Amino acid sequence: MSDDKSLKPETIAAHAGRMSFEHYGVVNTPVYRASTILYRTLASLESADVPYTYGRKGTPGSESFETAINELEGGARTMVAPSGLGAIAVAIQAVCGAGDHLLMVDSCYHPTRLLCDRTLKRFGIETTYYDPQIGGGIEKLMKPNTRAVFCESPGSLTFEVQDIPAVAAVAHRHGASVLLDNTWATPLFFNAFAHGVDLSIQAATKYVGGHADVMIGYVAANESHRARLEHAHHDLGLYASGDDCYLALRGLRTMPVRLARHQENGLKLACWLSQHPAVSRVLHPALESDPGHALWQRDFKGACGLFGVVLKDIPHSRLAAFMDSLKLFGMGYSWGGYESLIVPAKIHRTVAPFAAEGPVVRIHAGLEDPDDLIADLEQALAKCA
Ligand SMILES: *Cc1c(COP(=O)(O)O)cnc(C)c1O
Repeated sequence: MSDDKSLKPETIAAHAGRMSFEHYGVVNTPVYRASTILYRTLASLESADVPYTYGRKGTPGSESFETAINELEGGARTMVAPSGLGAIAVAIQAVCGAGDHLLMVDSCYHPTRLLCDRTLKRFGIETTYYDPQIGGGIEKLMKPNTRAVFCESPGSLTFEVQDIPAVAAVAHRHGASVLLDNTWATPLFFNAFAHGVDLSIQAATKYVGGHADVMIGYVAANESHRARLEHAHHDLGLYASGDDCYLALRGLRTMPVRLARHQENGLKLACWLSQHPAVSRVLHPALESDPGHALWQRDFKGACGLFGVVLKDIPHSRLAAFMDSLKLFGMGYSWGGYESLIVPAKIHRTVAPFAAEGPVVRIHAGLEDPDDLIADLEQALAKCA
């Protein structure tokens, strides 16, 4: 089915990567637990004419998942990683080495910043942070040794939308690669390769898994980055377990319908919150009032259930009263599962400060009834008035 370019994403998500008739007709590729894989003869071992050679290098389970994702992304090769952060680390190491310069968006996921400031620095990779709203202005930050521009759009705490095509045009003119953490939009709502991205990264822990029970990530590469990704991935020994590949692929099958509902619920909550007297503003690119709305409308096909809320200035005790009163919103990191969540946003910036009038919280709209969620927010917000 990979040669049928006319299929819609929902159809690809339901069909791609299936190997049913290699498994007695069983619809889902079963869980393979394997380290050793046996060869029948010495000739077979010497010619390596077998699809699988060693557990770390892939099993039918990881192949099913990678194939399905690769078709959805429209990439040349997708490789699974043990977590989203692991996927980010391998993607950067596929294109940067000692003496190279990396441009990193200032609104990046905080552990990505720590990776740059600690480990990558120790390996001789220099990072410069840039304003998420820089667009084509990134030209002035390019150096002769700039190998990669890393984007995350929108940022998962402050939700600024980046002009990826403008950034990519400059990067490519300077021979640099474009990497994108596309976890917020997923390949369903933002087509990374069509907008100039070379390595598309996903914390599949979030919407792909979708049920808060698996840590997994992936990197999808275009043709020009395929070999570099394969080499870095093999050399670093990355691997995801058969169980985790199974859960992630199972999640992928229903991701389109889940995301549609996350989007609908997220927008309902965002609209309701934007009218509430305790709220200063809502950070959600699908709202017309959002500074990133025009770019979002131009480049994205939808919005997930994750957005930010800047509350009016209140003492910390009131914030605690609000959050502790919520009954349907769990307080916890991560997002993308079926359940609603809330966390205070801890914002780390070095070049593009984010000015907030009051405390910022991040909400993930789950799959519950939106009126129940709104009623819960209403009773809890009354506590911070
Ligand atoms: C969670 C997250 C990651 C990291 O994914 P893990 O699977 O937790 O390692 C990366 N980027 C973004 C935007 C995330 O939200």
